[in-house]
Formats: sequence, C-alpha cells, structure tokens
Amino acid sequence: MKVVQLGVEFAPIAKVGGLGEVIQGLSRELTRQKVQVDVILPKYDFLDVRKLSKLKVEVPEFTCLGHTNAMWSATCEGCSLHLLESSTNYFRRGKIYGCEDDTARFLYFSRACLEYLKLKNEPIDILHLHDWHVAVCALLAKEIFSLPIKAILLTIHNGEHQGRSAPWDLEAIGLKKHDLLQDDDPAHPKALNLLKGGIVYADWVNTVSPTYAKELLTAAIGGPLSKTFRKYKDKLSGFLNGIDQTTWDPSNDPNLPKPYAASSPLPEILAAKEAARTALRKRFSLPLTHRPWVGSITRLVPQKGPELIEHGLRQTLALGGSFLLLGSSPLPKIQKHFDKLKQEFVGSPQALLHFEYDEELSHLLFAALDFLLVPSHFEPCGLTQLLAMRYGTLPIVRGTGGLKDTVFDEGAPHPQNGFVFRDLDPTALAATLQRAILLFQNEQEKCNALLIRDMRQDYSWTQLSKNYFNLFRNLTFT
Ligand code: ADP
Repeated sequence: MKVVQLGVEFAPIAKVGGLGEVIQGLSRELTRQKVQVDVILPKYDFLDVRKLSKLKVEVPEFTCLGHTNAMWSATCEGCSLHLLESSTNYFRRGKIYGCEDDTARFLYFSRACLEYLKLKNEPIDILHLHDWHVAVCALLAKEIFSLPIKAILLTIHNGEHQGRSAPWDLEAIGLKKHDLLQDDDPAHPKALNLLKGGIVYADWVNTVSPTYAKELLTAAIGGPLSKTFRKYKDKLSGFLNGIDQTTWDPSNDPNLPKPYAASSPLPEILAAKEAARTALRKRFSLPLTHRPWVGSITRLVPQKGPELIEHGLRQTLALGGSFLLLGSSPLPKIQKHFDKLKQEFVGSPQALLHFEYDEELSHLLFAALDFLLVPSHFEPCGLTQLLAMRYGTLPIVRGTGGLKDTVFDEGAPHPQNGFVFRDLDPTALAATLQRAILLFQNEQEKCNALLIRDMRQDYSWTQLSKNYFNLFRNLTFT
C-alpha cells in the first residue's frame, strides 16, 4: 500500500502542536508495518537539517503557477520526507503560522504538491490530507488534476481552524469552480471555507477521537460548520491519536536524569521522578519543595482554558502544592496577562511559569509532575494527557472530546486513570483538583497504584494505527 501524507507540520523539525507529532508518529508506525509512506512538507527556512539524513535534491526544477520549485528528499524519524523548496518567499518566514498571507502560502503549497505528484505520476492508494492547510487538495485532485489516486482521506485535527478565504484566493491557484465551499457562517456570506471544501470533496473524513466526531455535529462545538458535518456524517468517523513510543519513552529518554519503565519497581519509578524534579529545581534555581507538583504544558489559547489554568495555579498553591506552567501564547493579550501573572509569583517557592516552546524541557516536566491539568473548552484528541500518563503523571482534565475518551475518573465504566470534571467553570475544576490533591496527600498508596496503571496503558501508534489500517483497506477495497 502506498500512502502520501500532506501536512504543514512534522515533529520534531517543524512542530507547533499535536499535528506535527501525529503526522510523524502515524507515518513512522505505518512505515514500520511496511506501508510505503511519503510525507510532503514545505522546506521551511528554519528546518534543522542536522535532524535530516540522506538530504538530496530529488526533482531539481518544476513549475507551479509560474514559480520555480525544487523537491528535496530526506529521511527523518524513520520516515521518507519530501521537502518543497519554492522560489516564492512563502516558506522563508522563520515560522509555520502567523503570517498575513497564510492562506496564500498554504494554497500554493497544496497546488505545488499536486504538481509534483502529477510529475511523478505513481499510483497512490491513499492521499491523506491533514487539516485546512491542504484540504483544498481534495478539490484540486478531483477538479483539475487527474491522478492515479484510489481514495482521498481528510483528517481534521482541529475543526476550529478552517481557512476562510476569498474567491480570488482560489482563483489564484487555478480553481474557478468553488461554489460548494460557501462558508456556512451567516456572518461571512461571501467567504469560502477551505476545510468545508475538504469535507465535501474527500472520500472520507475522520477526526481524532470518537467523542469529538460527535461533538462536531453540534452547533456548540462544530459552530456554523456543524451543518456541513451533519450533511456528510455518513463519511465521518473519529478515532484516537496514538503517541510515538520511541520519542516518548521514559526508559530511554535522553532528557531525563534517570530512566524508568512501567515494569520498574515502584521505588525506582518514584526515585526517577524525584531525580527529574531535582534537575528542574537546579535548572531554574527554585526550591519548589511543596508537593504535589501540578502543571500544564500547552499553547495558551482560549481552547485550552487559560483562565482555568490560572485558577488551577492559584488553587494548587493554596492547597499547599506547586504549579509549573510550560507554554506560551501566540495571542498578545493572553501572553500579556500571563506575563503579569508571572510577575505576581516572582520569588514564590511554589510556582514556575516558563513561556517558551521547549521540547526537551517538556520531557523533563512530564516526568517530574505529579498531576497534569488539561482544562480545555474543547479538545479534538489531546496528546499531553497521554504523554503524562506514559510518564506516570496523573491527568486532571475537563471531560470533552478526546480527553473524555482517554481519561476516566472513579465510577466510569473503565478503571480510573485520572480525574475528570464536566462543567466549564472554576468551581467544578476546584472540586476535582482538591480531590486529586487530597488523594496525593492522604492516600499515597492509591495514588501510586494509579500511577502504575497509567504507565501500563497502551496508547501507542502500534495499537492505534490499526484504525487507520482498517480505514485505508475499506477505502481502497474495490
Ligand atoms: P495542540 O495540538 O492543540 O496544541 P496537543 O495536546 O494535541 O495540543 O499537543 C500539544 C503538543 O505540543 C504536545 O506534544 C505538548 O507536549 C507540546 N507542547 C505544547 N506547548 C509546549 C511548549 N511550550 N514546549 C514544549 N512542548 C509543548
């Protein structure tokens, strides 16, 4: 089977959040299972070429919309990558997102990918598109390019981001027929919606948890696009993301001072987690002696409940614990608020607020924490709760989307592996956080039993890629 993955992130060389990690983890696992997987990605100027091997020019020159391009090939994390270099300056911005012309950049990337596939003209079983940035490829492949592709799958990693654009944006990449992309939002009657285009034109659409697939059908979470999700619900499914167990392996993680595994004796696990805390205290010259350690590792955007993270921080401190936050915001208003919050806690022996994207530090933090707080307003799948559990850190989450499908509190049909609150308000969070902290302080044995149970769960791609396998098989069955 041959699968081509199109997306604009790939961990660790171009990662902003879960999207890059999922494309990498799924591709590596499928490759391991002898599927031929090719990942196409822009050749951003910031790519760390030291993390690439066998980098070479694959196609020295081809044109797209009058611009010259080259395709490079390389391997990274066990995956075969194809990196699009363009004479435009679209991928020389030092970042993936946040440019005024993001729509034009990704539309161009989409068209150039299909020009490249046309040039190669090799049979493809599944063209796998990820999120709105490349969703238009479904339309391009069906309306303009005639390619030997058996089926097109669109995976929605976050339905909030839809790529609203103007008719001339699509005309600029040669698409004159775009009437089916009319935005469902009455506030934008003239806009076109790229994610909607993907939903309409792809052969199948899936999202990254069963609960989120259901939630997208509701106006509360799907928004105006819920109308389209309901219309196409017969080709919509949802299954969970996995985690890459090679990158995220506490028994073999270069970022940890001491390795530990689910099979290690409990005292060894606890000692290794303490060693991670010692390393963090040293790195930040902070006492952080109060336990438990509660923390969040997240983009600070409204989706992630930054106001609830702040409540969590204040309450943890009041209950005698420490709070550690690793995350920053692309939104100046939120970042400013958290900068102020950091000032408030300067000199506190119980708080660490670190506003950077730091992959290595995140590994150390997952190991060092006792609890990870994920109070999202909505969450398509969420990876941090899965990573936390793998590192023996108990998740405290709001029961929405993939959080609801992976974290189970007392009384759930599954054995307890964390703490869940339902209502989106500080009181519900406070009650659950207090319950978790009291358990930690008064029932250490029960807490440790949960830690061991969490580490033994299997949310690996080895397990979860089976859902993709079955879907690919169904889609290509003729
Ligand atoms: P999303 O994709 O919506 O941001 P996910 O939970 O699916 O959320 O994935 C987030 C990923 O990004 C996780 O691997 C998490 O560890 C990582 N991450 C988020 N913020 C930071 C940060 N400041 N530093 C390092 N890693 C981060």
